[in-house]
Amino acid sequence: SREEITYFGAGPALLPTEVLKTAAASLVDYNNTGLGLAEHSHRSELATGILNTTKDDLAKYLDVPNDYEILFMQGGGSGEFSATVYNMVNVWVERRKQKILKELGVEESKIPENDLVQQLQKAVDEELKIDYVVTGSWSLKASQEAARLVGAEHVNVVADARKINDGKFGKIPEESSWKLSKNPAMVYYCDNETVDGVEFPGFPKILEPNGDDSPLVVADMSSNILSRRIPIKNYSLIFFGAQKNLGSTGITVVIIKKNLLPPVVGTPAPTLLRKLGLPIGPIVLSYETIAKNNSLYNTLSIFDVYIAGQVLKSLLATFTDKVDGQQAVADKKAQLIYAALDAHPESFKVVPAKDARSRMNICFRVTHLESVDESEKLFLKGAVEKGLTGLKGHRSVGGIRASNYNSIPLTGAEKLAAFIEEFAKTPK
Ligand code: PMP
Repeated sequence: SREEITYFGAGPALLPTEVLKTAAASLVDYNNTGLGLAEHSHRSELATGILNTTKDDLAKYLDVPNDYEILFMQGGGSGEFSATVYNMVNVWVERRKQKILKELGVEESKIPENDLVQQLQKAVDEELKIDYVVTGSWSLKASQEAARLVGAEHVNVVADARKINDGKFGKIPEESSWKLSKNPAMVYYCDNETVDGVEFPGFPKILEPNGDDSPLVVADMSSNILSRRIPIKNYSLIFFGAQKNLGSTGITVVIIKKNLLPPVVGTPAPTLLRKLGLPIGPIVLSYETIAKNNSLYNTLSIFDVYIAGQVLKSLLATFTDKVDGQQAVADKKAQLIYAALDAHPESFKVVPAKDARSRMNICFRVTHLESVDESEKLFLKGAVEKGLTGLKGHRSVGGIRASNYNSIPLTGAEKLAAFIEEFAKTPK
């Protein structure tokens, strides 16, 4: 039964049982309306109410400043790999265009279109770069998507963590070694690499705002959002799929600084982008469009927004100090599990370097027996017998991965730590 299991899957992840019970009832009959939540119109007053409350609660829990917009989107984290490129390249082109017009001292309507296109084309060819800090398979995928959309010549890998770790992910390269571009369309990184168990210990110092030259920083926080305080002001954009710490699969959240949206920055005309050989993104991935329509440009799954809203309500009710409270619990759970692993170096080897260890995805190898393969099979079998499931590592890297998301209770982490201790004593 549900009570007997602690599920450490990497996402979709466990959801609080109470949230699921409320959501299940709402699926049949929402608030005595006689209709289920998945049946109500996304344009109904009721749906807008759910959407706006969820936005407010997210803003409250994370202390999202007023000059940021919260968007609910579709297409998952992978959709955002593309959306960030389309939208941030648009911002870059628009700003670069304004700079050209300013230098020429003319208004756009006064300059022959071909002259403007020519100058912009030169700027695009020579200057357009999108910077990626590659610390694991998800940031790698994001950088590959950028290369697919705009061409590899516009993608600058600021640092590749594999180069300092025998071709494998597991470390965060020293910031002093990062090769940042001048005025990139964005500097992108993944705050927590779900597959490789690598998490940034905090906001990269080198990217901290410094006046007009501040880089536009974009982060994928799909697998560690809501688990620690983040200096939102340092970011231009943060995105995360809901299916780990926020709710169910099906919605993706974007927190974007309003100064990247109209009226501050316009969106270049599709005809201009076409002339410049730059991609034109699908309208459903346009932040401007989604923002303008309060996330209801097209049919949004209000049921999934509702689940996220219930999770946030429960977090706000549990932690009067909001995300700081959850952070303390997340840190404690991670420490418990890592301490058990570190106490038995002959039986376990944590994969990432100590200063890059993720609190959310704890990746390790089992070296108890001579064969790692046999050790890991034995470990997984013993774990399942104790009700500890979902521990198998990602198929691309193998090993064990304990995903320690917010919905894993402290007792769940304690059970896993106790099992690790017990396993280390298994006769060889
Ligand atoms: N980024 C991270 C950090 C992820 O963990 C994942 C999925 N596990 C993704 C992006 C891709 O998300 P999706 O499957 O929703 O496209």
